[in-house]
Amino acid sequence: MNENINWAALPFGYYPTDFNVRCTFRDGKWGDIEVSQSDTLNIHMAATCLHYGQEIFEGLKAFRGKDGKIRIFRMDENARRIRRSAEGLMMEPIPEKLFKMMCVMAVKLNNRFVPPYESGASLYIRPLEIGLSPRIGVKPASEYMFVVMVTPVGPYFKQGFGVSNYCITRAHDRVAPKGTGQFKCGGNYAAAMRAGEEAHGKGYSAVLFLDPLEKKYLDECGPANFFAVKDGKYITPASDSILPSITNMSLMTLCEDLGIPVERRHILVEELADCSEAAAIGTAAVASPIGNIDDLDTGKTYVMSHDGKPGPITTMLYDKLNAIRYGLEEDVHGWNFILDEDRIEP
Ligand SMILES: *Cc1c(COP(=O)(O)O)cnc(C)c1O
Repeated sequence: MNENINWAALPFGYYPTDFNVRCTFRDGKWGDIEVSQSDTLNIHMAATCLHYGQEIFEGLKAFRGKDGKIRIFRMDENARRIRRSAEGLMMEPIPEKLFKMMCVMAVKLNNRFVPPYESGASLYIRPLEIGLSPRIGVKPASEYMFVVMVTPVGPYFKQGFGVSNYCITRAHDRVAPKGTGQFKCGGNYAAAMRAGEEAHGKGYSAVLFLDPLEKKYLDECGPANFFAVKDGKYITPASDSILPSITNMSLMTLCEDLGIPVERRHILVEELADCSEAAAIGTAAVASPIGNIDDLDTGKTYVMSHDGKPGPITTMLYDKLNAIRYGLEEDVHGWNFILDEDRIEP
């Protein structure tokens, strides 16, 4: 373990580690896995990732449990999702086994950066794929690089699990109606940056986007999925422009286990008036509870927390998912990959 790091104070940022792993697709096949100590890439200045946005990524976490074991949460799902993203952007799909092997290698090689259980911190795993071939005409690359880097990150809630405010705006869309919303690509983030920064400037955590076609239904919540509690039910938007969050998928399963009804459907903006809890969901936070949602165009405020605290269902789901990730609660669905027990070579 690395003694000198104040794990609990680490931001969600880049902290250098010892190694990253890389693999290149060239001449129609993936090559050998390369272990690198460099945190830079040397690529052609005309590479498609730089000019035409052929870049996709993933985000998952490894946790050191109270029992000392290191667990990677739902890696199979990330392997599947990055393959769908590759297909969506005409990039070379990464074989799922290669994806998982490289994630496991990156964690093992950087074992000393997997934070101690007591810190509440974790090791964030960031796999990414880029198009390498030089192109000036718009055309998919024929060469690709897949990199897995890791970095330790502190607990998301530094001042305790609490609420923050969001806004609705019709001034910007994150993605187009039949665009790339369901793929995890850098381009979606570039497209949403102006909206996000404007919201931050007004004191909001993020924008709760509306569906880009009709602007009637709730969509993605900044760089996260969204759920609300209405009449004791967990409701979450169904939309082609939303990235299928693995955290959301997991919370829906936990709801079923707990007997909480789940509805995945179009949700009208006005329904927020009848909701008693809401949160943004993703790997970084699990669930980030929402206080108020201000509709900047109509001037309406939807109050998701009347006492300024996270609601009971949000809190229960947050605690339960974290307990599973840290190995405190039985992993009945087999979501954790345990290092050295669930072997993926080498
Ligand atoms: C990564 C991401 C999420 C959350 O997905 P998880 O698998 O739960 O981490 C949600 N929305 C967007 C746009 C994302 O990129």
